[in-house]
Amino acid sequence: MNKKTFALASIVSLIPFLSLSAQLNLPMAPAAVEVAAANPAADDTEALKAEYGEFYSALKVFSNVAYVSPVGSPEYVEAAASGQYLRARIEGMASRILRATGAEYRLPAGSERDRGTVSYKVVSELNDVFGFYSVLPGAREGDTRGVPIKAGYCQINFVKNNVPFLVQYDGFLNKGEVILTFDDGPGALTEEVSAAMKEGKAPSIFFVLGRSLGDAGKARIKAEAADGHSVAVHGYGHATESDKPFTNYSTEKTVSQLSGVAKTITEATGAKPGFFRPPYGIISVDALNAIYSELNLVPVGWTIDTLDWSTKDPDTLFANTVSMIQKRGKGIVLMHDIHPQSRTAAKRLVGWLAANGYKVVSPERLTKAYKGE
Ligand SMILES: [Zn+2]
Repeated sequence: MNKKTFALASIVSLIPFLSLSAQLNLPMAPAAVEVAAANPAADDTEALKAEYGEFYSALKVFSNVAYVSPVGSPEYVEAAASGQYLRARIEGMASRILRATGAEYRLPAGSERDRGTVSYKVVSELNDVFGFYSVLPGAREGDTRGVPIKAGYCQINFVKNNVPFLVQYDGFLNKGEVILTFDDGPGALTEEVSAAMKEGKAPSIFFVLGRSLGDAGKARIKAEAADGHSVAVHGYGHATESDKPFTNYSTEKTVSQLSGVAKTITEATGAKPGFFRPPYGIISVDALNAIYSELNLVPVGWTIDTLDWSTKDPDTLFANTVSMIQKRGKGIVLMHDIHPQSRTAAKRLVGWLAANGYKVVSPERLTKAYKGE
């Protein structure tokens, strides 16, 4: 709509209808007609649907790569980080389409997009965010060093053009022992997940985001703590203001942001957080060491990635998760308590673990392993 129409529409919406004709003597019809003629919005929706298809297509590719790549391998780090990022982008597009059309959008089945391709545009955006495809400033090309953080517990590996990734080990767990972790909350599903894990005698770690700790978020993490879980630090946001991993912040900035999140958790739950997990597993050696020495937060990665962002079907997710746990026999399991499919699969999983001889062990085992106790 043009400026004049917009002004008129705004004025109309600001003035109570009954007093409108008396004050302005404006006819209603022209405004209504002009507003309805806002065709660019429909074009935008079509463009958005096309973009959704483009990103969804790439998500499929990265999901498949993540499934077949060992956790911690360069291919895995690239695919899992990219997939998580793309899922968040796609959810944003989906809610914009829903708002514009009033209906949930589904890609036409069997379309070219549905088969999975990664476009130049998607690769460029991912490279801008993560730097997987071009050498980052200060990097040594072909650098694949590993820097031990705690022997036998975790280390940082430099993968895909020097992106530092937290590799977790679980040698301190016995066969059949599992640690459950949920990232990116708190959200609308958090209390349900928390209560179900309590019910299943599965004390878990919830790695939360400071930006979600308004009044409702504080009540949610308070419930987590009351249910016997550990509330831990993930980040303030899931990335920097420009959507990049925390490696784009200085160590000082990272520590000060996380310190604020830790303080909020302490105030809301009455307990100091004990763990930190970097979003995407991407963090510098310096920052990770400072986060422990200054904030006393033990780093926690994962050894089983359910890839719960990759499917919306809880049955598929549950089956995949069970098969991953059976294959490894134990591990630190990564899920997200913000996805409906994760909520449903986690509730089934906790019953399956108990029925199949697995034991969900206390997160304290991580602290002991890190400290070498
Ligand atoms: Zn996360």
